[in-house]
Amino acid sequence: MSLEPTRADGLARLAAFAPLMGRAYAQGRNGDPGPGRRRYVSELSAHIRHRLVTEEEVLRIALAQHGLPAAETFVQEVFWRVYWKGFLELRPAMWAEYRARARALQAELSAQAGLRRAFEAAAAGATGIACFDAWARELAETGYLHNHARMWFASIWIFTLRLPWVLGAELFLHHLKDADPASNTLSWRWVGGIQTPGKHYLARAENIARYSFGRFDPRGQLIEDAAPLAEPPPPPPGALSDGPAIPRGRVALLLHEEDATFWPEGAEVVGVGFLCWPQQRSIFGAAAAAAAFTEAAVADGARLLAARTARGAERLTPDKVGAWARGLGAEAILTPHAPVGWVRPMLEGVERAGLPLVAPRRAFDTLCWPLARRGFFAFRRHIPELLRALGLAEEGGGW
Ligand SMILES: Cc1cc2nc3c(=O)[nH]c(=O)nc-3n(C[C@H](O)[C@H](O)[C@H](O)COP(=O)(O)OP(=O)(O)OC[C@H]3O[C@@H](n4cnc5c(N)ncnc54)[C@H](O)[C@@H]3O)c2cc1C
Repeated sequence: MSLEPTRADGLARLAAFAPLMGRAYAQGRNGDPGPGRRRYVSELSAHIRHRLVTEEEVLRIALAQHGLPAAETFVQEVFWRVYWKGFLELRPAMWAEYRARARALQAELSAQAGLRRAFEAAAAGATGIACFDAWARELAETGYLHNHARMWFASIWIFTLRLPWVLGAELFLHHLKDADPASNTLSWRWVGGIQTPGKHYLARAENIARYSFGRFDPRGQLIEDAAPLAEPPPPPPGALSDGPAIPRGRVALLLHEEDATFWPEGAEVVGVGFLCWPQQRSIFGAAAAAAAFTEAAVADGARLLAARTARGAERLTPDKVGAWARGLGAEAILTPHAPVGWVRPMLEGVERAGLPLVAPRRAFDTLCWPLARRGFFAFRRHIPELLRALGLAEEGGGW
């Protein structure tokens, strides 16, 4: 089933995958039989990333079909995403520092022929390590990699090829249709051993052979005893306010790639417009297929929400937002909160014609993100209470 950048496609995938979200997922998710053969992962990440379907919707279906004990692994994986989003939101300086390093490496790629050649060989899948080369090509051709393949790829990149992890993370952002500032940056840090300091992920040939079902066997090609990267640990978390309330009056709803389906209950929406900045995601911009997915995903969300108003959705440019909103008689421009990443600074720069830009957060995020203060296992303990607060699980249910 080819990946379509629409909510309808996301919902169809969700329905098709629902029967597998229980024990089948727990047993099957680690294996990667290769493109076109994967049954035990949902491949919903690009839809979830743009919120064509939301984490909450996915959790609701998993729990309704299987209950918490059977769906525990799937629920936990969805909450890895939620945790990463919260972790970065509480530490915006990590993103600023990552971006500065990416820009510095861009200059080094131009200046250092050796680094450039090694990077280009890895990105093109020409290292001679067959599994790695296949994943590099799959990444470029499909904009997706299985989670285990992402872990192996990142580990080989860092510990066998000895390339800077930030360049690998930027390559992922360039190609992935689910490119996400939090999940991507923090997962690369986790593989390198700097997210959970001292604990790194080393790809092992035996593990690759087993979980790729014998498609690959890189015995003798990998460095399997490297030490973790030595970098400062993540900074302590800051605080998160509840964010602004949804205004009651006439608002122009401005959607973007962080959330294509946000509907402000209680406001009077007089028009829906959308913006998107896929090329801002990395020093390499966005690959054509990834950019096209993002643009069409935001357009689809806007089209669906505009159907609740008297007008069609408007594709905008940043300099036209204020005039558009004024033309609709709006009292404010309302946009879904943009979490830490490349969209937030772009939104701050849109021309507003003197109107306030109000960016409320989803209640789901306001509830979950402040809990990402320490490691995942401390966060994980809150999941049953979060599910109850969200009305997704019954009182008394635990892990
Ligand atoms: C180095 C590296 C980089 C990554 N970069 C990204 C990224 O840019 N964007 C992104 O969405 N995910 C990223 N991930 C996380 C994960 O690999 C993908 O979310 C997952 O593979 C998507 O496939 P799926 O939809 O079939 O997942 P499923 O297994 O079906 O899981 C359902 C959903 O849960 C979430 N999820 C599952 N596993 C994880 C995880 N380990 N971390 C965070 N969320 C998870 C995703 O939203 C996913 O769609 C990265 C992981 C690694 C190791």
